[in-house]
Amino acid sequence: MEDMSSKGKNKKETKSETEPDSSPTLDFIRTIIENDLKAKKNDCRVHTRFPPEPNGYLHIGHAKSICFNFGLAAEYGGLCNLRFDDTNPIKEEAEYVESIKEDVRWLGFDWEDRLFYASDYFMQLYEYAVQLIKKGRAYVCDLRSEEIREYRGTLTEPGKDSPYRNRSIEENLGLFEHMRAGEFEDGSRVLRAKIDMASPNLNMRDPVMYRILRATHHRTGDKWCIYPTYDWAHGQSDSIEGVTHSICTLEFEDHRPLYDWFLDQLNVFHPKQIEFARLNLSYTVISKRKLLELVEEGHVTGWDDPRMPTISGLRRRGYTPESIRNFCERIGVAKKESTIDVALLEHCLREDLNKRAPRVMAVLRPLRVVIDNYPEERVEELGAENNPEDSSMGFRKIPFSRELYIERDDFREDPPKKFFRLSPGREVRLKHAYYIKCVDVIKDENTGEIVELHCTYDSETRGGWSKDGRMVRGTLHWVSAAQSLKAEVRFYDRLFVKENPVEETESADFKTYLNPNSLETLTSCRIEPSLANTTPGSRFQFLRKGYFCVDSVDSSRSRLVFNRTVPLRDTWAKIEKAQKKS
Ligand code: ATP
Ligand code: MG
Repeated sequence: MEDMSSKGKNKKETKSETEPDSSPTLDFIRTIIENDLKAKKNDCRVHTRFPPEPNGYLHIGHAKSICFNFGLAAEYGGLCNLRFDDTNPIKEEAEYVESIKEDVRWLGFDWEDRLFYASDYFMQLYEYAVQLIKKGRAYVCDLRSEEIREYRGTLTEPGKDSPYRNRSIEENLGLFEHMRAGEFEDGSRVLRAKIDMASPNLNMRDPVMYRILRATHHRTGDKWCIYPTYDWAHGQSDSIEGVTHSICTLEFEDHRPLYDWFLDQLNVFHPKQIEFARLNLSYTVISKRKLLELVEEGHVTGWDDPRMPTISGLRRRGYTPESIRNFCERIGVAKKESTIDVALLEHCLREDLNKRAPRVMAVLRPLRVVIDNYPEERVEELGAENNPEDSSMGFRKIPFSRELYIERDDFREDPPKKFFRLSPGREVRLKHAYYIKCVDVIKDENTGEIVELHCTYDSETRGGWSKDGRMVRGTLHWVSAAQSLKAEVRFYDRLFVKENPVEETESADFKTYLNPNSLETLTSCRIEPSLANTTPGSRFQFLRKGYFCVDSVDSSRSRLVFNRTVPLRDTWAKIEKAQKKS
């Protein structure tokens, strides 16, 4: 075996000839690719593609496929195409095409000039089909779809030949041409491959290649009234594009013999199909069909609802592309189905936001505090660091005055033992500001609800530190009442109450497990004035409260709306810790 590095085509040049065929540090797909490179297959090219069907928005499962395909190409100095597998004019829409392009770009990948559509190949696919007819490997069948299904047989019983199976090549060529010319009704005839009705693999039992369908296609308009099936289009599209490694999910494993058969019959360039397990994520569903149901039935506000596992939903929720890429890298690829804990995805996001999100103060459930000994007209500007994790993020000024807001649950009139926050007579620190001490509690006469606290401050504790070394146990966030801004904050919880809402043993509809409390909106939050001019999508850590972002749809200058991205508490870190212990 020669050293492939002499070609200089890929970055993993240090691999030596003596290396085993399967390295423990490589996943099974990289192992296949490296072996192909060593064997100098495909002139040492690595060419992948991401082939979405434009019938919905992309989800986190697609992100895995995107990161993997574009990632492999980058790693091996190859190319990755974006190709829309747009063979079904009924379910496909231009809106989906645009959203998919936006999502791939947002994730940080670039298809350069390689944006393709299976519909670009409709003519070529038609000609390929004619070739198969001429070889006696395809025929026009007049059975109706239900009959085709009946004739197909089952896993335990062989199928039956169609009565139209032995039409002459001439007759088939003529009929297929007439199909294309629009001379037959929708559904009245199909073109089928002539393979083997007794094959143990149902996909090989004379699968349909073309159906008659009068539907306007988002790109080819009304040019065609016959459309190739996905099975007929997919492998040939990869071949036409020179894709070397055609990576797909496990459900296509049983289709591989069919794709191989087509390519062999046509005697064209033959990509290698490799299947990996799809991503499943706990407490959600990942399937465009199911997600579409949630959208259409109004269980969520749209494909980009921040509770959705779609890329647009995650983006609106405040996820960063980096965190999603990192998540995809960590989960890797495998042959076996598994479900990934959504806590890992959240952990990856937290790790990223911890470093980059500025820390600000926002009071979500405000309680008014009056500092009795603070001058009435005075407003002080106090310095606050933007992120202790990154000093280059600098400082900002926050106003302090006589009237403030603190969090309602940071005060207890009768504090339990381990409550170290504010209570009557107790002193606490206001972050970046002063020590304050509660001297009086004002209640609503009728309801008994606490409406205001009176406190005193110690002017010697500016910045939140006491010169005499006096310690306090609680540090609270706060905002100045007059200068703070009103904001709406939306809290999102898991969309489903069940870890796997689509469990196979389950007869109930997955929607019965929707979490009725997946959205809680607080409309009278108060945020520090530095957030007045934030741009949609900007992310922050609200001190002690979690990570939040400016909603990109509903937020405006006059109505600030934030989404809670993730809470601060990292359940994944806990799980990891527990695993290490046991
Ligand atoms: P869905 O079942 O959600 O409709 P799909 O597989 O039909 O998904 P496509 O648009 O056909 O969606 O998929 C484009 C690519 O993304 C395919 O290569 C597919 O294998 C991959 N993909 C789809 N879902 C997942 C997933 N959950 N995990 C990993 N890859 C996925
Ligand atoms: Mg699909």
